Amino acid sequence: MYQITGHTRFGGLMGSPVAHSLSPAMHNLSFMTLGIDAVYLAFDVGQEKLGETVRVFRDLNTFGFNLTMPLKKKVMEYLDSVSKAAGLIGAVNTVVNENGKLTGYNTDGVGFVSSARAHGFEPEGKEVTVLGAGGAACAACVQLALDGVKTLHIVNRRSGSWNAALSLADRISRKTPCAADLTDLDDWQALCGLIGRSDLLVNATSVGMAPDTDASLIRDPCVLRQDLMVADIIYNPRRTKLMRQAEEAMCKSFGGLEMLLFQGEEAFRLWTGKQMPVELVKERFFS
Ligand code: NAP
Repeated sequence: MYQITGHTRFGGLMGSPVAHSLSPAMHNLSFMTLGIDAVYLAFDVGQEKLGETVRVFRDLNTFGFNLTMPLKKKVMEYLDSVSKAAGLIGAVNTVVNENGKLTGYNTDGVGFVSSARAHGFEPEGKEVTVLGAGGAACAACVQLALDGVKTLHIVNRRSGSWNAALSLADRISRKTPCAADLTDLDDWQALCGLIGRSDLLVNATSVGMAPDTDASLIRDPCVLRQDLMVADIIYNPRRTKLMRQAEEAMCKSFGGLEMLLFQGEEAFRLWTGKQMPVELVKERFFS
Protein backbone atom coordinates (compact mmCIF):
# COMPACT_ATOMS: atom_id res chain seq x y z
CA MET A 1 0.00 0.00 0.00
CA TYR A 2 1.51 3.34 -1.06
CA GLN A 3 1.63 6.06 1.61
CA ILE A 4 2.01 9.76 0.82
CA THR A 5 4.17 11.32 3.55
CA GLY A 6 5.61 14.70 4.44
CA HIS A 7 8.67 13.74 2.39
CA THR A 8 6.88 12.65 -0.79
CA ARG A 9 8.21 14.46 -3.87
CA PHE A 10 6.14 15.05 -6.96
CA GLY A 11 6.53 15.65 -10.65
CA GLY A 12 4.37 15.02 -13.66
CA LEU A 13 3.28 15.64 -17.19
CA MET A 14 2.41 19.07 -18.63
CA GLY A 15 0.54 19.52 -21.89
CA SER A 16 -2.95 19.74 -23.30
CA PRO A 17 -4.71 17.34 -23.46
CA VAL A 18 -3.04 15.01 -20.94
CA ALA A 19 -5.86 13.02 -19.32
CA HIS A 20 -5.42 10.07 -21.75
CA SER A 21 -1.69 9.66 -21.01
CA LEU A 22 -0.21 6.34 -19.82
CA SER A 23 2.70 8.15 -18.13
CA PRO A 24 1.13 8.58 -14.64
CA ALA A 25 0.26 4.86 -14.45
CA MET A 26 3.70 3.83 -15.72
CA HIS A 27 5.77 6.06 -13.38
CA ASN A 28 3.61 5.57 -10.26
CA LEU A 29 3.76 1.78 -10.61
CA SER A 30 7.56 2.07 -10.95
CA PHE A 31 7.91 4.35 -7.89
CA MET A 32 5.75 1.99 -5.85
CA THR A 33 7.58 -1.14 -6.99
CA LEU A 34 11.01 0.33 -6.20
CA GLY A 35 9.88 1.95 -2.92
CA ILE A 36 10.62 5.50 -4.17
CA ASP A 37 8.70 8.15 -2.20
CA ALA A 38 7.36 10.14 -5.15
CA VAL A 39 4.19 10.63 -7.20
CA TYR A 40 3.60 11.58 -10.83
CA LEU A 41 0.47 13.51 -11.90
CA ALA A 42 -0.92 14.95 -15.13
CA PHE A 43 -1.41 18.73 -15.44
CA ASP A 44 -3.45 20.25 -18.26
CA VAL A 45 -1.28 23.27 -19.11
CA GLY A 46 -1.36 25.36 -22.29
CA GLN A 47 1.35 27.65 -23.70
CA GLU A 48 0.06 30.71 -21.81
CA LYS A 49 0.50 29.09 -18.37
CA LEU A 50 3.76 27.28 -19.10
CA GLY A 51 6.27 29.83 -17.73
CA GLU A 52 4.38 30.23 -14.48
CA THR A 53 3.92 26.45 -14.03
CA VAL A 54 7.61 25.74 -14.69
CA ARG A 55 8.57 28.34 -12.07
CA VAL A 56 6.29 26.64 -9.51
CA PHE A 57 7.76 23.21 -10.37
CA ARG A 58 11.27 24.63 -9.94
CA ASP A 59 10.49 26.32 -6.62
CA LEU A 60 8.59 23.40 -5.08
CA ASN A 61 11.57 21.09 -5.46
CA THR A 62 9.83 18.64 -7.78
CA PHE A 63 12.01 15.86 -9.22
CA GLY A 64 11.12 17.14 -12.69
CA PHE A 65 8.47 16.77 -15.37
CA ASN A 66 7.56 15.62 -18.86
CA LEU A 67 6.18 17.79 -21.62
CA THR A 68 3.84 16.81 -24.42
CA MET A 69 2.23 18.78 -27.23
CA PRO A 70 2.15 21.74 -27.61
CA LEU A 71 4.90 22.57 -25.10
CA LYS A 72 8.02 20.66 -26.20
CA LYS A 73 9.65 23.62 -27.98
CA LYS A 74 8.40 26.52 -25.87
CA VAL A 75 9.64 25.01 -22.59
CA MET A 76 13.24 25.50 -23.76
CA GLU A 77 12.87 29.26 -22.97
CA TYR A 78 12.51 28.47 -19.26
CA LEU A 79 15.37 25.99 -18.72
CA ASP A 80 18.95 26.48 -17.51
CA SER A 81 20.46 24.03 -20.02
CA VAL A 82 19.55 21.30 -22.51
CA SER A 83 21.26 18.06 -23.57
CA LYS A 84 23.04 17.82 -26.91
CA ALA A 85 20.24 15.64 -28.36
CA ALA A 86 17.49 18.02 -27.18
CA GLY A 87 19.42 20.98 -28.65
CA LEU A 88 19.76 19.24 -32.03
CA ILE A 89 16.12 18.13 -32.04
CA GLY A 90 14.97 21.56 -30.87
CA ALA A 91 12.49 20.04 -28.42
CA VAL A 92 12.43 18.82 -24.82
CA ASN A 93 10.11 16.16 -23.41
CA THR A 94 11.80 15.57 -20.03
CA VAL A 95 13.12 18.08 -17.48
CA VAL A 96 15.24 17.18 -14.45
CA ASN A 97 15.15 19.53 -11.46
CA GLU A 98 18.34 19.45 -9.39
CA ASN A 99 17.98 21.91 -6.50
CA GLY A 100 16.26 24.48 -8.69
CA LYS A 101 18.47 23.97 -11.76
CA LEU A 102 16.40 22.73 -14.70
CA THR A 103 17.98 20.60 -17.44
CA GLY A 104 16.03 19.57 -20.54
CA TYR A 105 16.35 16.23 -22.37
CA ASN A 106 14.55 14.54 -25.22
CA THR A 107 13.94 10.86 -24.49
CA ASP A 108 11.75 10.16 -27.57
CA GLY A 109 14.79 9.43 -29.72
CA VAL A 110 16.35 7.22 -27.04
CA GLY A 111 12.99 5.44 -26.83
CA PHE A 112 13.03 4.76 -30.56
CA VAL A 113 16.63 3.52 -30.67
CA SER A 114 16.11 1.33 -27.58
CA SER A 115 13.09 -0.28 -29.24
CA ALA A 116 15.14 -0.86 -32.42
CA ARG A 117 17.92 -2.45 -30.33
CA ALA A 118 15.35 -4.62 -28.55
CA HIS A 119 14.51 -6.01 -32.01
CA GLY A 120 18.16 -6.64 -32.91
CA PHE A 121 19.03 -3.45 -34.83
CA GLU A 122 22.45 -2.00 -33.86
CA PRO A 123 22.79 1.54 -35.33
CA GLU A 124 26.62 1.64 -35.60
CA GLY A 125 27.72 2.05 -39.26
CA LYS A 126 24.20 1.50 -40.70
CA GLU A 127 22.23 3.24 -43.46
CA VAL A 128 18.67 4.28 -42.56
CA THR A 129 15.70 5.81 -44.42
CA VAL A 130 13.21 7.78 -42.31
CA LEU A 131 9.85 8.84 -43.75
CA GLY A 132 8.76 12.14 -42.17
CA ALA A 133 10.46 15.09 -40.56
CA GLY A 134 7.97 16.09 -37.84
CA GLY A 135 8.54 15.98 -34.09
CA ALA A 136 8.89 12.22 -33.65
CA ALA A 137 10.96 11.84 -36.84
CA CYS A 138 13.32 14.58 -35.73
CA ALA A 139 13.92 12.86 -32.37
CA ALA A 140 14.48 9.44 -33.99
CA CYS A 141 16.84 10.86 -36.66
CA VAL A 142 19.01 12.77 -34.17
CA GLN A 143 19.35 9.81 -31.80
CA LEU A 144 20.13 7.39 -34.65
CA ALA A 145 22.86 9.82 -35.77
CA LEU A 146 24.26 10.22 -32.24
CA ASP A 147 24.25 6.43 -31.79
CA GLY A 148 26.41 5.78 -34.85
CA VAL A 149 24.23 5.55 -37.98
CA LYS A 150 26.54 6.37 -40.89
CA THR A 151 24.04 7.59 -43.50
CA LEU A 152 20.54 8.89 -42.89
CA HIS A 153 18.03 9.56 -45.67
CA ILE A 154 15.17 11.78 -44.54
CA VAL A 155 12.17 11.69 -46.87
CA ASN A 156 9.37 14.26 -46.62
CA ARG A 157 6.76 15.77 -48.90
CA ARG A 158 7.41 19.28 -50.25
CA SER A 159 5.08 20.93 -47.76
CA GLY A 160 5.44 23.97 -45.53
CA SER A 161 7.86 21.96 -43.36
CA TRP A 162 10.34 21.27 -46.22
CA ASN A 163 12.74 23.99 -45.03
CA ALA A 164 12.61 22.69 -41.45
CA ALA A 165 13.43 19.21 -42.81
CA LEU A 166 16.37 20.65 -44.79
CA SER A 167 17.62 22.36 -41.67
CA LEU A 168 17.36 19.07 -39.71
CA ALA A 169 19.46 17.21 -42.31
CA ASP A 170 21.99 20.05 -42.28
CA ARG A 171 22.25 20.12 -38.43
CA ILE A 172 22.76 16.37 -38.27
CA SER A 173 25.47 16.43 -40.96
CA ARG A 174 27.34 19.34 -39.35
CA LYS A 175 27.03 18.36 -35.68
CA THR A 176 27.26 14.56 -35.70
CA PRO A 177 29.47 12.10 -37.63
CA CYS A 178 26.39 10.98 -39.65
CA ALA A 179 25.78 12.19 -43.24
CA ALA A 180 22.11 13.16 -43.61
CA ASP A 181 20.21 14.17 -46.77
CA LEU A 182 16.65 15.06 -47.71
CA THR A 183 14.55 13.58 -50.54
CA ASP A 184 11.12 14.49 -51.87
CA LEU A 185 8.54 11.85 -50.92
CA ASP A 186 6.88 12.25 -54.34
CA ASP A 187 10.01 10.94 -56.09
CA TRP A 188 9.15 7.22 -55.90
CA GLN A 189 12.16 6.09 -57.96
CA ALA A 190 14.55 7.93 -55.64
CA LEU A 191 12.78 6.48 -52.58
CA CYS A 192 13.09 2.94 -54.00
CA GLY A 193 16.85 3.52 -54.46
CA LEU A 194 17.26 4.75 -50.86
CA ILE A 195 15.27 1.84 -49.41
CA GLY A 196 17.30 -0.57 -51.55
CA ARG A 197 20.51 0.66 -49.89
CA SER A 198 19.14 0.90 -46.34
CA ASP A 199 19.34 -1.50 -43.41
CA LEU A 200 16.30 0.04 -41.70
CA LEU A 201 13.18 1.81 -43.02
CA VAL A 202 11.22 3.90 -40.51
CA ASN A 203 7.76 5.37 -40.95
CA ALA A 204 7.82 8.43 -38.68
CA THR A 205 4.81 10.12 -40.30
CA SER A 206 1.23 9.86 -39.10
CA VAL A 207 0.22 7.99 -42.28
CA GLY A 208 -1.41 4.71 -41.18
CA MET A 209 -2.49 6.03 -37.78
CA ALA A 210 -6.08 5.34 -36.63
CA PRO A 211 -8.66 5.93 -37.98
CA ASP A 212 -6.93 5.78 -41.40
CA THR A 213 -5.47 2.33 -40.76
CA ASP A 214 -5.36 1.18 -44.37
CA ALA A 215 -2.86 3.83 -45.48
CA SER A 216 0.85 3.33 -46.14
CA LEU A 217 3.43 5.46 -47.90
CA ILE A 218 4.89 2.31 -49.47
CA ARG A 219 2.76 2.13 -52.59
CA ASP A 220 4.55 -0.97 -53.97
CA PRO A 221 5.68 -3.50 -51.32
CA CYS A 222 8.11 -5.07 -53.85
CA VAL A 223 10.60 -2.50 -52.58
CA LEU A 224 10.71 -4.31 -49.20
CA ARG A 225 13.43 -6.98 -49.28
CA GLN A 226 13.74 -9.74 -46.72
CA ASP A 227 16.89 -8.41 -45.03
CA LEU A 228 15.43 -4.91 -44.55
CA MET A 229 14.19 -4.11 -41.05
CA VAL A 230 10.97 -2.03 -40.99
CA ALA A 231 9.78 0.16 -38.13
CA ASP A 232 6.58 2.14 -37.70
CA ILE A 233 6.53 4.63 -34.84
CA ILE A 234 2.73 4.65 -34.85
CA TYR A 235 1.30 2.77 -31.84
CA ASN A 236 -2.40 3.04 -32.72
CA PRO A 237 -3.05 0.62 -34.35
CA ARG A 238 -0.36 -1.69 -32.96
CA ARG A 239 0.00 -3.40 -36.33
CA THR A 240 -0.08 -0.81 -39.11
CA LYS A 241 -0.55 -1.37 -42.83
CA LEU A 242 3.22 -0.88 -43.28
CA MET A 243 3.91 -3.61 -40.71
CA ARG A 244 1.51 -5.93 -42.51
CA GLN A 245 3.31 -5.19 -45.80
CA ALA A 246 6.66 -5.89 -44.10
CA GLU A 247 5.45 -9.21 -42.68
CA GLU A 248 4.23 -10.31 -46.11
CA ALA A 249 7.67 -9.44 -47.51
CA MET A 250 9.23 -11.54 -44.69
CA CYS A 251 11.00 -8.47 -43.19
CA LYS A 252 11.54 -8.09 -39.46
CA SER A 253 9.30 -5.27 -38.22
CA PHE A 254 8.28 -3.48 -35.05
CA GLY A 255 5.75 -0.82 -34.07
CA GLY A 256 5.73 2.29 -31.87
CA LEU A 257 4.47 0.91 -28.57
CA GLU A 258 7.93 0.07 -27.23
CA MET A 259 9.21 3.54 -28.18
CA LEU A 260 6.56 4.91 -25.82
CA LEU A 261 7.64 2.52 -23.08
CA PHE A 262 11.38 3.15 -23.50
CA GLN A 263 11.08 6.96 -23.65
CA GLY A 264 9.43 6.66 -20.22
CA GLU A 265 12.13 4.30 -19.01
CA GLU A 266 14.81 6.85 -19.96
CA ALA A 267 12.95 9.72 -18.23
CA PHE A 268 12.61 7.56 -15.08
CA ARG A 269 16.36 6.83 -15.15
CA LEU A 270 17.16 10.55 -15.49
CA TRP A 271 14.97 11.46 -12.48
CA THR A 272 15.84 8.60 -10.15
CA GLY A 273 19.14 7.09 -11.37
CA LYS A 274 17.27 3.78 -11.25
CA GLN A 275 16.10 1.28 -13.83
CA MET A 276 12.34 1.24 -14.39
CA PRO A 277 10.82 -2.25 -13.90
CA VAL A 278 10.02 -2.35 -17.63
CA GLU A 279 8.82 -5.93 -17.82
CA LEU A 280 6.23 -5.26 -15.11
CA VAL A 281 5.15 -1.96 -16.73
CA LYS A 282 4.96 -3.64 -20.13
CA GLU A 283 2.88 -6.53 -18.83
CA ARG A 284 0.52 -4.24 -16.90
CA PHE A 285 -0.04 -1.42 -19.41
CA PHE A 286 1.36 -2.37 -22.83
CA SER A 287 0.18 -5.91 -23.50
P1 NAP B 1 4.09 15.80 -36.55
O1 NAP B 1 5.15 16.58 -35.89
O2 NAP B 1 2.79 16.47 -36.88
O3 NAP B 1 4.70 15.17 -37.89
C1 NAP B 1 3.91 14.44 -38.78
C2 NAP B 1 4.76 13.99 -39.96
O4 NAP B 1 3.93 13.19 -40.82
C3 NAP B 1 5.29 15.12 -40.82
O5 NAP B 1 6.53 14.78 -41.38
C4 NAP B 1 4.21 15.23 -41.90
O6 NAP B 1 4.65 15.82 -43.09
C5 NAP B 1 3.96 13.76 -42.15
N1 NAP B 1 2.68 13.52 -42.79
C6 NAP B 1 1.45 13.68 -42.27
N2 NAP B 1 0.50 13.35 -43.19
C7 NAP B 1 1.17 12.97 -44.31
C8 NAP B 1 0.77 12.52 -45.61
N3 NAP B 1 -0.51 12.37 -45.92
N4 NAP B 1 1.73 12.21 -46.50
C9 NAP B 1 3.04 12.33 -46.18
N5 NAP B 1 3.48 12.76 -44.99
C10 NAP B 1 2.56 13.07 -44.05
O7 NAP B 1 3.67 14.53 -35.67
P2 NAP B 1 4.62 13.63 -34.73
O8 NAP B 1 4.49 14.09 -33.34
O9 NAP B 1 5.95 13.56 -35.34
O10 NAP B 1 3.86 12.22 -34.82
C11 NAP B 1 3.92 11.41 -35.97
C12 NAP B 1 3.38 10.02 -35.64
O11 NAP B 1 4.24 9.43 -34.66
C13 NAP B 1 1.99 10.01 -35.02
O12 NAP B 1 1.28 8.92 -35.54
C14 NAP B 1 2.23 9.81 -33.54
O13 NAP B 1 1.19 9.12 -32.89
C15 NAP B 1 3.50 8.95 -33.56
N6 NAP B 1 4.33 9.12 -32.37
C16 NAP B 1 4.72 7.99 -31.73
C17 NAP B 1 5.50 8.08 -30.59
C18 NAP B 1 5.90 6.82 -29.87
O14 NAP B 1 6.35 6.91 -28.72
N7 NAP B 1 5.79 5.68 -30.50
C19 NAP B 1 5.92 9.34 -30.13
C20 NAP B 1 5.51 10.48 -30.82
C21 NAP B 1 4.72 10.36 -31.94
P3 NAP B 1 4.44 17.42 -43.31
O15 NAP B 1 5.47 18.07 -42.47
O16 NAP B 1 4.67 17.57 -44.75
O17 NAP B 1 3.03 17.72 -42.89
